[in-house]
Amino acid sequence: MYSSTHGRVKLQKPVLHPAYEVVENAAVDEYGLQAILYKHKKTGAQVISVLAPEDNNKVFGITLRTPPKDSTGVPHILEHSVLCGSRKFPVKEPFVDLLKGSLQNFLNAFTYPDRTCYPVASTNTKDFYNLVDVYLDAVLHPRALVDPLVLQQEGWHLELEKPEDPLTYKGVVYNEMKGVYSSPDSLLGRTTQRALFPDNTYGVDSGGDPLAIPTLTFADFKDFHRKFYHPSNSRVFFYGDDDPLKRLVVLDEHLSEFSSIDVDSKVVYQKKNKTPERIEMTYPVSAGAEPKHFLTVNWLMNDEPLPAKEMLAIGVLDSLLLGTSSAKLHKILTESQLGESVTGGGLSDELLQATFSVGLKGVKAANVEKVEALVLSSLKSIAEEGFDQTAIDAAMNTLEFRLREFNTGGYPKGLSFMLGMMSHWIYDKNALDGVRFEEALNSLKADLKAGKPVFQDLIKHYFVSNEHRVTVEMKPDEHMEANQIAEEESRLANIKNSLSVDEIEKIIKDTALLKAAQAREDSLEAKATLPRLGVEDIDPASREWPITIVRKGGSHSETILTHDLQTAGILYADVGFDFSGIDPQDVELLPLFTSLMMEGGTSTLDEVSLQRKIGAETGGIGTTIYSDVMASAGVVSSLAPDDTLLYFMIRGKSVADKVEVMLGLFEDILLNANLNNKKRAVEMLKESKIRKETSVISSGHSFAGTRLASRYSFLGHIGEITGGLTSVRNAGRLLDTAETDWDAIYARLKRMQAAIIKKNGMIVNLTADKLVLEASLPLVENFLNALPVASLAKVAKPLKSSWSTSKLNPPVNEGFFVPTQVNYVVKGGPIYQPGEPVSGATSVISRYLSLNYMWDTVRVIGGAYGGFARFSETTGRFVYMSYRDPNLKVTLDAYDKAPTAILEAEITGDDILQGVIGAIGDLDSPLSPDQKGYSSMMQYLAGESAEDRQQWRNQVLGTTAHDFTDFAKRLDSVRSSGSVVVVGSKSALEGANKEIKEEIAKLNITAAY
Ligand SMILES: [Zn+2]
Repeated sequence: MYSSTHGRVKLQKPVLHPAYEVVENAAVDEYGLQAILYKHKKTGAQVISVLAPEDNNKVFGITLRTPPKDSTGVPHILEHSVLCGSRKFPVKEPFVDLLKGSLQNFLNAFTYPDRTCYPVASTNTKDFYNLVDVYLDAVLHPRALVDPLVLQQEGWHLELEKPEDPLTYKGVVYNEMKGVYSSPDSLLGRTTQRALFPDNTYGVDSGGDPLAIPTLTFADFKDFHRKFYHPSNSRVFFYGDDDPLKRLVVLDEHLSEFSSIDVDSKVVYQKKNKTPERIEMTYPVSAGAEPKHFLTVNWLMNDEPLPAKEMLAIGVLDSLLLGTSSAKLHKILTESQLGESVTGGGLSDELLQATFSVGLKGVKAANVEKVEALVLSSLKSIAEEGFDQTAIDAAMNTLEFRLREFNTGGYPKGLSFMLGMMSHWIYDKNALDGVRFEEALNSLKADLKAGKPVFQDLIKHYFVSNEHRVTVEMKPDEHMEANQIAEEESRLANIKNSLSVDEIEKIIKDTALLKAAQAREDSLEAKATLPRLGVEDIDPASREWPITIVRKGGSHSETILTHDLQTAGILYADVGFDFSGIDPQDVELLPLFTSLMMEGGTSTLDEVSLQRKIGAETGGIGTTIYSDVMASAGVVSSLAPDDTLLYFMIRGKSVADKVEVMLGLFEDILLNANLNNKKRAVEMLKESKIRKETSVISSGHSFAGTRLASRYSFLGHIGEITGGLTSVRNAGRLLDTAETDWDAIYARLKRMQAAIIKKNGMIVNLTADKLVLEASLPLVENFLNALPVASLAKVAKPLKSSWSTSKLNPPVNEGFFVPTQVNYVVKGGPIYQPGEPVSGATSVISRYLSLNYMWDTVRVIGGAYGGFARFSETTGRFVYMSYRDPNLKVTLDAYDKAPTAILEAEITGDDILQGVIGAIGDLDSPLSPDQKGYSSMMQYLAGESAEDRQQWRNQVLGTTAHDFTDFAKRLDSVRSSGSVVVVGSKSALEGANKEIKEEIAKLNITAAY
């Protein structure tokens, strides 16, 4: 294992400011950072200022402890409401204004069970301080406290337009949580948490239970803010390369008007005082669905603080038990065949107390009892036997690699630091201990070296002899969805019956009042309060990554690319094989092929040994499918199969002196994978079937989008077969075939391997610094020499050459029902034809549409959790989408009015400028070194040049009002000839068909799976 690349940090003197006292000035050697803890004297606000002179992605966050007493969702609703205007920025939604016209790369808010966190990130200093200013004012002085309409919009309200109509509940959080409570996994998680913590704040739902949300009053809402949203209860975090004095000055300007108060927000421990308990609950399923139960066993692990080494060791134990498919408990549960997929998630340790949950989903009623017994007896026997040394080595190396690499991907590093620190800081422990690991890691290694039975002891203590345990069984209920709808209807009918004529009049008036307020534009004066960037704040030059073409291959040989980037001694390797040689019949097997390559073992290593070797020697290896369309600069792709990229990828990372081992593993996997591992294949098909079915309920919009694409292009067709509703529907048949006629599946998998794994048309993409690249290239050559070359006669591409547009799904409107209380409404179609030029301005306009019209009509007025527009410049296709939407027909009507809305909107120069800045922010969002290397490879494969990127950027910068009208006119074709896909509840789909007048526009309704 490599050592930390940072030396010891040389501590600088902390910057001083008279309003603050320094509490601690300390180094975090693990990451080469210095952190200064301050206390704001007047208010007692706690501040951490991290000096990170080499990271320009600045991060700010203010976090408040907000432990709720009930499940009305008040912390969550307040989190939404705080972002709806404030004293200094009296516009309706500064949050959206910031999304429109900032270079931010992170702008969000999170509600935890015990805290609420408001983080922002930007690489531009002026932008960063604009964001800080808006967020601090929002948190401390929200408009929501003086305007009850905000709570109505974001939380809940009764809606009524005509006296004879039924009352309805509306509100963004109300619908968001209805969606959450429709998902069996979240239902299970929430019920478990409540049961494990009967006595403290974790026993209620901070997100809000849809049944309890409508009991939240404006008075309670305001009171919650008064109590907890005070500087004395806040923890403020700064990180990055900006001036540390400016941080203190700006913060003091916001805090100095407050004085210190006592806030009782401390989270108290739930005592481990229970005896084992069993809970039964139900979840909604469609009529006729296979009766599948869920069963999990759950423990509350600690009721006092855990030492750092113990926490680290528990994390390793978690991966030893459940971290991979070959982890001990995971394997026992999977192989028991008692259920379809392991569930529960294992360790959860970001709150005051850690919990552990494990079980199975997809369990037959007769097997439910056996699952609980198996979990308990397995833990008991593992506590006696312990783990293999190879398993421990793999888990320890994997952990150490992850800690040292600290690869946060596109996510700001500073934010990861903040969240890591917060898991300690919020509980009044030393914040820096939340990110330090060296001492604990060394000490844990020493214990293991000395032969201490560390993990066996942990299992005994935390599971075997821990009686604070809850077993939760979740049973399917065909009537639950209908009952919930009926219950809500009758509750609302009762409310309406109890109201006087005057009261009903008032609700009608309030409904109109809210709608009018939502539709009202902010005044120019109010808009002018928001800090803005100008065109001078954006870099006109497009961003480029280093790329060297070591060897340019073609369809008969391999291509090698390298990217010289600082990676702290790690080599990131991506190897891609063109899969257009497979039989079209086998496309449906691609996901199984891709995972079985990794999970089936090889001819020399069984599945467990393979996973352990990967864990012990590398930073991880994985396989995936990459597909895209090629298009020349700013022109819509021909959409023909020949202009499509189809790659099976194997990707890995390792330190320099393990590159040879990693490439050896690549070779073993690619050439010798045990594709005849029926047992593993069947397990994976079961898992993927149930996973897909549950994700249709929680991510219906993405399945609807995939379905839509399958009506228009070859690639859309491939996507639908491998990951769309078609794949969900086929999952049962594939599983049956695998169980009853395995040889047929195995023959197809072998055929695929022969067609895919060949040097012809392959690509090798390496990202590392110069020295590591130089040392690695000869090893790559050796690796390449081991791979087969297909004879020229054998490089036919049946997948592409046999394509015919007759395989496309017909563009008819479809509705797919699932057990849910919300809908996902999608409509789209081509607005540019193949070969037509597309300008970068389109990215500004589709962004504008998402954040203006779609946000206002679908989310704010419609009450959906999300509504957005997507346009792909390579396919020329435009798509409207809604997410967790209470409406259906209303949303479709709103989509159809979008072109007129653009044409009628007065699009000012400032609107355009904000849109341009936002679009540039999207183009420039920060990436980790491996992401840079990968995206540079994608650009290369797509045939996109630096000039193309600059031209696109110039077009973004040059967007005019004319581009908006041109786009709107094109968009009209979606209204007239686009097609619709809805994933939603059966009753909503049938209801919509009653309202849709034209026969041809009606939804063809079927069960999703
Ligand atoms: Zn929310």
